[in-house]
Amino acid sequence: MTKQYIFAVDLGGTTTKLAFLTAEGGFVEKWEIPTDISDNGKNIVKNIAKSFQNKVRDLQLSTTDFLGVGMGTPGPVVHGGIISKAVNLGWENYPLKDELEQELSMPAFVGNDANCAALGEMWKGAGNGKSNLVFVTLGTGVGGGVIVNGDIVEGTNGGAGEIGHMSVQLQNGYLCNCGKHGCLETVASATGIVKIALDTLKRYEGNSPLQSILAENGNISAKDIFDHAKEKDEIALEIVDQFANYLGYGLGTLATILNPEAFVIGGGVSKAGTILIETVTKYYNQYAFPPSREDTDILLATLGNDAGVIGAGWLVKKNML
Ligand SMILES: [Zn+2]
Repeated sequence: MTKQYIFAVDLGGTTTKLAFLTAEGGFVEKWEIPTDISDNGKNIVKNIAKSFQNKVRDLQLSTTDFLGVGMGTPGPVVHGGIISKAVNLGWENYPLKDELEQELSMPAFVGNDANCAALGEMWKGAGNGKSNLVFVTLGTGVGGGVIVNGDIVEGTNGGAGEIGHMSVQLQNGYLCNCGKHGCLETVASATGIVKIALDTLKRYEGNSPLQSILAENGNISAKDIFDHAKEKDEIALEIVDQFANYLGYGLGTLATILNPEAFVIGGGVSKAGTILIETVTKYYNQYAFPPSREDTDILLATLGNDAGVIGAGWLVKKNML
């Protein structure tokens, strides 16, 4: 019998997503297990292997039906499969590829989780058919992946594609988790937009809808801001405009350097939809070098939380087929 399936894994700090995919990237089975980060993450791969064996048995498959395993993980991946540091998992110089091959007895391929999400969108999502694209995820942080000619740009030590840490606010920027000030993440993540909102609301007197929400709940969410912007609330529109200016600047600068076919925007904030794309495009067109922006689309991601696991599967397809 020919090998026909791919085992794909998307490792998160609390949950691990697992899937059996066809060679074309379709789901055969999809499930989740909790991530056990005790003992510096030494049970993680063992638990994945155990869950794999159980599922193979349940579906009356065999290990020999699998082309290999692809896995997305937090942290930079170096030397083809070593995780140099993943603080939340307790991993340091962790030989993930070797561990997977040992536990699962099949070829293993490992990528950074944000990069895997980028590859997933390239393979089966908004970037379908494109081989030069930049994926940007706007969630509690801002992450991303840069794909050139179908491959992730990894950089010298796995640190390429850290779009969230581009400096976009050169003076008086908010402090970022990375230690710098004014990173894109501090103004374009869900928490970043809220920071902009709180500072903007301070400048206004009176009772705008956003001020009422703030007074009532003691806080405000990115969704509140976009919802009221869609209803043409003036302050909400001003907040969205500031956010879009920073993100448009970031994308415009990337376009000037990379001239990609598309930017694919994912993560929780991207649920704002059309208003986000329209306002960001307005500023993007101001900042991108004109010839390099002409054939570049700004698109919403389509795979949601499945992007990472599908992209992890793509690593197997790319290397084994
Ligand atoms: Zn930063």
